[in-house]
Amino acid sequence: MSGVTKQERSDSDKTRSVRFVPPHAWSLWRRPRGVVIYILAVDSAAAVITIALSAWLPVKPKQWLYFLILTACCVLYTEISRGIEKFREAARGVPHVDVNSVWMFAAVLLLPPGLTAIVVVTCYGYLWLRISRHVVHRQVFSTAATILATHVAYAVLALGTPFYKTPGSLSGFVVVVTAGLLYLAVNTLLITVAIISTTHEAGIRDALGAPGDYALEASTIALGIMLAWSLLAWPAVATLIVGITFALHRGSLTRQLREQARTDSKTGLLNLGGWTESARSEFERARRYGQPMAVLMLDLDHFKRINDRHGHLAGDDVLRAVATTIRTEVRAYDIVGRFGGEEFVVLLNDVTWLQVHEIAERIRRQIAALAVAVSSRSSRSGPVVIRDLSTSIGAALYPDHGSTLEELLHAADRAVYEAKAAGRDQVRLAGQSSAGVVPAS
Ligand code: GH3
Ligand code: MG
Ligand code: MG
Repeated sequence: MSGVTKQERSDSDKTRSVRFVPPHAWSLWRRPRGVVIYILAVDSAAAVITIALSAWLPVKPKQWLYFLILTACCVLYTEISRGIEKFREAARGVPHVDVNSVWMFAAVLLLPPGLTAIVVVTCYGYLWLRISRHVVHRQVFSTAATILATHVAYAVLALGTPFYKTPGSLSGFVVVVTAGLLYLAVNTLLITVAIISTTHEAGIRDALGAPGDYALEASTIALGIMLAWSLLAWPAVATLIVGITFALHRGSLTRQLREQARTDSKTGLLNLGGWTESARSEFERARRYGQPMAVLMLDLDHFKRINDRHGHLAGDDVLRAVATTIRTEVRAYDIVGRFGGEEFVVLLNDVTWLQVHEIAERIRRQIAALAVAVSSRSSRSGPVVIRDLSTSIGAALYPDHGSTLEELLHAADRAVYEAKAAGRDQVRLAGQSSAGVVPAS
């Protein structure tokens, strides 16, 4: 995938300083056999299809000129965007944004598939040398996936040639846009499958990325179409397109930095600021439409003991596992955040008291059922499994327990303390005199 390179979402920091790892030491070989076969199949398919198509489709003289211009665009753009890259590196954890689809998709439109593949290899190779520094086999896989995507797009153009070659026709435009969408879809599919099968923690939601990433992808493809068009009709305009690409690149970084500022780096959940911002706008929406909603506050019981016994790193692993559990137990549009320390907060949309109790109980039980393998500072004989976690949960409902978000948070917080006072490991609803009594909804 060409926008935010998705694999960076899963291994952004780990590979930051990796320059070269010899093939026999690649982590790829330690993956399950199915994953290795998949990766090698994609790599070899890209190579074999490219060689076959190159032998079959000759290069026209003018295409060499386009090839040189697009290859130069890859190299020069990578150089001029190093300033953005330095800025990104200063903000650790922000994934590298790759806008190379502009040149690569322009190549699909102007060049035979063999030359397009060389443009892709140059883009990724130069990027690897100067910026991304991925583990080599990952970069090779990204290159192969993109090459296959360019071939699929080329096939669409070849099939649609009668329409495509009529200048200015609407049908030609539809063919080009379809080729662009398929390029995006094939690339995303190949890389998403690889991420899901190689990264245990990456759920489908994570691997698929944010809608904003797709908007960026689509924009780079649109610019690729304009670049190809300008090279055919008015080459000087190509310089403007490079400028627009640069502005888009910078703009996407701003969006990423904003996202990063809202995220808790330890758990990947929203941090307090991010949660409050999202919860406030959701709260206002619910109030306008007269919908009920609820706030859950969760506090892990005796968490300090885990740190004391196994160390803070083990405690962090538990926090991550708990965060994942909470996220998976609620709906995608519920808002989950880390309130701080070992406390979490959830805004549940459009729920009744009964549902709130059910959801909170389910989260409590799932956290209790966790078995988190951690490396403990008190064990020299390998990982230790932490079980039987217990959680005190307080819940407050809008409008019953508060007419503002702050009032709801206070009510849920009081309920947590009541749960603690009543012996921990339980759900307490605000305004409830004894645990387990659920008001009629
Ligand atoms: P209680 O049942 O009363 O909630 O007991 P507790 O030990 O969970 O609560 P307390 O507030 O006394 O301690 C919270 C602990 O959470 C203290 C701190 O070491 C730990 N903690 C807070 N933030 C982090 C973190 O980011 N990582 C780790 N490992 N521990 C954290
Ligand atoms: Mg606490
Ligand atoms: Mg606690």
